[in-house]
Amino acid sequence: MHDRRVTAMLAAMLMVASWFIVYMEYGPALRFDLSSVALGLVSIGLLLLLLQFWHLQASTENQLKALQERLDQLQSLAYQDQLTGLPNYPAFVELADERLLTHAGLHNGVLAITIERYDYLFDVLGHDGLDELMQQAAERLQGACGKGDSLARGDVQDGFVIFHSNIDEDELAQLAERIVTLMKQPFAFQSSAMMLTVAVGMSVHTPSEAAETLIDQAKQALKIALQRGGDQWYLYHPHMEQDTSERFYLHNALFNALANNELSVVYQPQIDAFNNTLSGFEALLRWHHPSLGNISPLEFIPLAEEIGLIGDLGRWLIGQVCKQQIDWQQQGFSLVPVAVNVSPVQISQGDLVDDLEDQLARWNLAPKYLEIEVTENCVMNNFEDAIATLKAIRNIGIEIAIDDFGTGYSSLNYLKRLPGHKVKIDRAFVQEMHEDSDDQAIIQAVISISSQLGMQVLAEGVETNQQKDLLMHLGCNLMQGYLYSKPLAAEDCQPWLTGQALLS
Ligand code: C2E
Ligand code: CA
Ligand code: CA
Repeated sequence: MHDRRVTAMLAAMLMVASWFIVYMEYGPALRFDLSSVALGLVSIGLLLLLLQFWHLQASTENQLKALQERLDQLQSLAYQDQLTGLPNYPAFVELADERLLTHAGLHNGVLAITIERYDYLFDVLGHDGLDELMQQAAERLQGACGKGDSLARGDVQDGFVIFHSNIDEDELAQLAERIVTLMKQPFAFQSSAMMLTVAVGMSVHTPSEAAETLIDQAKQALKIALQRGGDQWYLYHPHMEQDTSERFYLHNALFNALANNELSVVYQPQIDAFNNTLSGFEALLRWHHPSLGNISPLEFIPLAEEIGLIGDLGRWLIGQVCKQQIDWQQQGFSLVPVAVNVSPVQISQGDLVDDLEDQLARWNLAPKYLEIEVTENCVMNNFEDAIATLKAIRNIGIEIAIDDFGTGYSSLNYLKRLPGHKVKIDRAFVQEMHEDSDDQAIIQAVISISSQLGMQVLAEGVETNQQKDLLMHLGCNLMQGYLYSKPLAAEDCQPWLTGQALLS
């Protein structure tokens, strides 16, 4: 393009120069006859044509430049995630395909990452707030990535993907661990702290399969990590389908568990260490399967939620607890409140208030002897409805404890909005508090905010006298844990009800 312009300029200069030479040669003798006028006009015409051509070149060049810029823009729209500035999913698939070709024969890994409870975050933070949080999450993920990692936005709003070439399973797991740990740190959000949980699915392999297969396997692993819930990662393996069929078997077994009397309730004492008295019990479900043995509630409660059985299980449990309280009352014991765990699904299903009222009426039990424990997650789907349900429960006269405080989306701001009367500090903080001054600071903050809000504080998982002493020193007198007692069968609770167990 530039060459043409230079040529045009040279031509113009040559023409002017030749006219100049003609003039110098013939000088004053030059007569304006018809042929010299014609020659002059032709030359001027040629000059104008050249100028026109030059102008045309310049404007075409500008148009092409603008077109190129527009193309670049469109390309970046097609290959870049506009919110985070990261490559988008189609760009990631292309890049992964390319890198699989250049690194064929090496172990290549893909991580699929998802921000858990995205819809809930959307409800709470709104569109702009969530965008801001996703930008922060993207920056933090970028920080967790090393040299060989390519981070991109996934194909769904709440997701990210990472490609890593030349990595083995252990290194991939370390990367996942790093991501989970980093994302667990609170995010600074509109002058308060916001907690996120992520799930990570991974796949790694040598053969030169298409990138999409590798990505697909990471996504399958992600589903399992999500089912396990809360900061989990899971590595794809070819026998994963077997895990799925085991779950299917458990699903069916759980359907029969209630009818077959395989479920039972145990009660863990809660102590007021200041007065050395029993302050309550927590009721915990147990499932003993005839061939599989004891199955942890951490495994079967999520299953029950998944297959729609949690409502029946919850109703059964509330009935059992009411019946037990009446039994104890009839045996002459003074009653203390018994807390039942209520899952977020029960809160959102809408029949919890009726169930509680029905059971209290059926067993003729005073509401003050029942308590429910909910985690902050229970308000995640529909904040207003969930709060209304909790308030209705409180109106019946049943108190509400906020369970596992510090592990979910804990924000102290949030605590204000939950109509709880008690906060249970998760055992993770209690168990580390001697070594970790952060944990101590968190416990102290929860105690001081709770007392300002008029709420009690109970520490879970107290296992040693050292923990008990430190908790009392910090101002927390209510506690529960193996130091006092493991969860007990109903008949073993009597020494606790009489106060006998606390005499020594
Ligand atoms: P959670 O509500 O946090 O219950 C406390 C768990 O900590 C219980 O485990 C209890 O046995 C255990 N624990 C108590 N003291 C100590 C201690 O000093 N050290 C240690 N390491 N652990 C201690 P469990 O019974 O296995 O229950 C696990 C979780 O399952 C419960 O956690 C609760 O989230 C859920 N769950 C149990 N029963 C029910 C139920 O009836 N309904 C619902 N929705 N969830 C339940
Ligand atoms: Ca609990
Ligand atoms: Ca708990």
